[in-house]
Amino acid sequence: MEYVLTGATLIDGNGGEPIVNAAVHVQGERIAWVGSMADLPPPTIPASQWGDMEQIDLSGKWLLPGLIDAHIHICYNGSESVFALLEKHRDELVLEAVDICKRTLSHGVTTIRDVGGEQFIEMSLRDAINRGFIEGPRMKLSGRVISMTGGHAHFIAREADGSDEMRKAAREQIKAGADLVKLMATGGTATPGQDIHASQLTVEEISAVTEVAHMMGRKVAAHCHGTGGIRNCMLGGVDTIEHGTYLDDETADMMVANGATLVLTLGAGNPDLESYPLSPVQQADAERRKPMIEQGVKQIRGTIALARSKGIFLGIGTDAGGNPLAPHNFSMARELELLVDNDLTAMEAISIGTRNNAVVLDMDADIGTVEAGKYADLLVLNADPLADIRNLRQIAAVYKGGEKV
Ligand SMILES: [Zn+2]
Repeated sequence: MEYVLTGATLIDGNGGEPIVNAAVHVQGERIAWVGSMADLPPPTIPASQWGDMEQIDLSGKWLLPGLIDAHIHICYNGSESVFALLEKHRDELVLEAVDICKRTLSHGVTTIRDVGGEQFIEMSLRDAINRGFIEGPRMKLSGRVISMTGGHAHFIAREADGSDEMRKAAREQIKAGADLVKLMATGGTATPGQDIHASQLTVEEISAVTEVAHMMGRKVAAHCHGTGGIRNCMLGGVDTIEHGTYLDDETADMMVANGATLVLTLGAGNPDLESYPLSPVQQADAERRKPMIEQGVKQIRGTIALARSKGIFLGIGTDAGGNPLAPHNFSMARELELLVDNDLTAMEAISIGTRNNAVVLDMDADIGTVEAGKYADLLVLNADPLADIRNLRQIAAVYKGGEKV
């Protein structure tokens, strides 16, 4: 497989000026050369062979790196309650998840980080995708979330208490094939009756997990809303804070000192009701969580401003599947739209959803930008996302590893 994509406006993910009239030479799964049409034929192709090279004309289109969703739950559909999903036969969950994988890819998301799976179905999906049996994004997976007994999402979690059990729980996930470990460090809105400000793991318990995960080369991600939970996670050496709603000045400084990342999730608490009206089940869930969500949306504006002023490294994810208000649709486009609503430029939002997220997944050597040597994971748009970030939904084509999907 070898071709040159020509004529598009290239937004390469690094945040610099777009290249108008760009050319991208793809060789096998990877990008061999990126430059301007003025410099064709590419130096990677001998001039004598240039005439035979397949050229794909993308004039009038925009070319971006494939999007990366740094926080997703691929085994849950995000439109029914988790309790309803858990009553389904495993096969039903598998088949629905196969469809979710395809849909995620078709929406321009070529890589995901799943931070809470179900019965290790996600591991089988990852392996099936890697072997070419089904279509779907590249995956980094946490396996089951680890929570305290009765903690956030305990109905899907590996419950563990005390350092020894926490170590064992983390090692179980890694044994099953986890690429990272996910902790629940505070309450969450998706679990009825919880206080999102309450810390749910001690510094000792968190440290036990980070120690064994880091020994095995895995990062640790922690669900945190309340400030106390973020503080415990920073004292315990956690790598990524998920949500981070009630970040304050002190915990922001701790994150900077630790080099920790804040993975924002904006859409799950602020659903796209205009494009996707709620079903009765979703309506009931929305009513129950309304006060928490309204407060959270207000809070997160300040949190984003604080994180940016401190220079905290930002990632972004949809939390699609994480609750009944977070279906798998144009969820990543929605996330970047909400970043722009929170005063980031469209270019900054795109860089966070591509280059930054690749760093969060430890995959920046292979994906995240359109550069020579990286996988040809590409998103082609019919309209300019810098003029209107909602144009991320105007998809003309998606390429994964050089292949059009
Ligand atoms: Zn989640």
